[in-house]
Amino acid sequence: MKNVLICDDEAIIRMNLKAMLLELGFEEVLECGDGKRAVELALGSFPDLVILDVTMPGMDGITAASEIQKKLKIPILLLTNCYDSETVKRASACGVAAFLTKPLRKQDLLPAIEIALSHVSEVEELKEKIEDLKETIENRKIIEKAKGTLMQRDHLSETEAYRVMQKLAMDKRKTLRQVADGILKEVH
Ligand SMILES: [Mg+2]
Repeated sequence: MKNVLICDDEAIIRMNLKAMLLELGFEEVLECGDGKRAVELALGSFPDLVILDVTMPGMDGITAASEIQKKLKIPILLLTNCYDSETVKRASACGVAAFLTKPLRKQDLLPAIEIALSHVSEVEELKEKIEDLKETIENRKIIEKAKGTLMQRDHLSETEAYRVMQKLAMDKRKTLRQVADGILKEVH
């Protein structure tokens, strides 16, 4: 089903977490014990989910999370022994999906993972919609510009120029945008 990367400096916690994740249906569990390695592994293997311990020697979990988030849009869960407002602030600033407190309980793990994964896909869907909208607006601008060019060049009304473009699109099996690009290229 999915791959997950876990990182905790305590081997016993990794062992327990790995067992829970495999039971929950994760196919592959990559593991490591420090933040720097977690960043390398995440960037090298594109896991579907990352679970990081906050307190580790060397690079801590929050720093590792923000390094990973800079490059990959994958949900990250943090494991922590206790909350303090500074940790929570740093964690939310880097876009961490959720906190889980130790000792970790299996009944808390699954909902946190499901929420984290669904949140990421919602954000991705929104981003796609925004990209589509941008493209639509850009297409309209180019089509309008080409129409204006045709009106001037061939002394056509707006409706006539638009019909010419529609006909070209149909005859050549092209989109209006492609026709518009062609018209603008001819002129310039
Ligand atoms: Mg630790």
